[in-house]
Amino acid sequence: MGLFDSVIRRSLPLLPKAVVWVVARRYVAGSGLEHALQRISSLRAAGFDTILDELGESIEHTDQAEEAVCEYERAMDALQDIDPDCAISVKPTHLGLLLDQTLCEQLLSRLCLRAAACRRRVRFEMEDSPTVDATLDVFCKLREQHPNLGIVLQARLFRTADDVERLLEGGAALNVRLVKGIYIEPATIAWTDPAEISRSFIELGRRLVQAGAFVAFATHDNVVADACAEIVARAGRCDVPAKERSYEYQLLMGVRTAEAERLLSAGHRVRVYVPYGKDWHAYSMRRLARNPEVARHVIKAFFSRG
Ligand code: FAD
Repeated sequence: MGLFDSVIRRSLPLLPKAVVWVVARRYVAGSGLEHALQRISSLRAAGFDTILDELGESIEHTDQAEEAVCEYERAMDALQDIDPDCAISVKPTHLGLLLDQTLCEQLLSRLCLRAAACRRRVRFEMEDSPTVDATLDVFCKLREQHPNLGIVLQARLFRTADDVERLLEGGAALNVRLVKGIYIEPATIAWTDPAEISRSFIELGRRLVQAGAFVAFATHDNVVADACAEIVARAGRCDVPAKERSYEYQLLMGVRTAEAERLLSAGHRVRVYVPYGKDWHAYSMRRLARNPEVARHVIKAFFSRG
């Protein structure tokens, strides 16, 4: 990272919330469910599928995990008329993984049952490396009884190739969102070179497709996306209408929208991740830190005001 970008990143926490919101509204639907529903409606109208995420992680009290599940239940009711296929995405630590693993399992199970009643999928996300074992543990305990439950695997971690084999041996149909991995991990357990991470992503994608898993390629990297398109085409997964295919692409709302359009025009199914919630500020700061170009514009606009 250059010195200038480093200064930009360190300046971000000093920005007033109102200024952050000017840019954040591209990446976050808003603080309330009604804002997310509006975005989902527009995305549906444009031909995209959707994923709903209520922002939140690393809660401090188990009550907050219960509240998160209630919020998702309310959201699923509200989504009935807007997008019957919208998937639900939830972070393990938002369901209290680090406070009470048994409670986390019970809450995830409740979420899956409710989602199954309206034919929705639930995605149990993946956070930083110290949480991976517990996350996979919860997922493995629930996947047989909840076929609508999927997991996320991170290509940057060395361990993921073994995790894939273990999950494939698990019997029940496997549904994986494959990502590069957003958390910076030590070089002893993860690839740090972007080219190695991309190579790992493509290899894992190939293995999962060959083994018959449903794969959601969650990437904005067009080179990786094209390599995955070739893998699914060779495996004959494009020979049915897009809605029936056992793969899809997933992108974050507001990130590389031209890439999302390109994939959609090429005939792929594309699902857009719509985050919302009162934790929008912390989430937006992470997005801005990932993209110094945008952060630079915000800071420039802020300091050049009158
Ligand atoms: P990159 O090479 O990192 O990005 C390609 C280009 O896209 C970059 O040059 C940049 O311009 C742009 N870009 C990418 N990401 C952003 C961003 N956030 N903000 C602004 N610009 C960006 N990671 C996890 O560890 N666990 C998860 O559960 C998880 N879920 C995800 C769900 C979805 C739907 C998506 C799309 C990503 C998810 N991620 C998750 C994040 C993922 O691991 C990567 O960190 C992220 O997608 C960036 O990697 P990339 O493949 O897009 O390639």
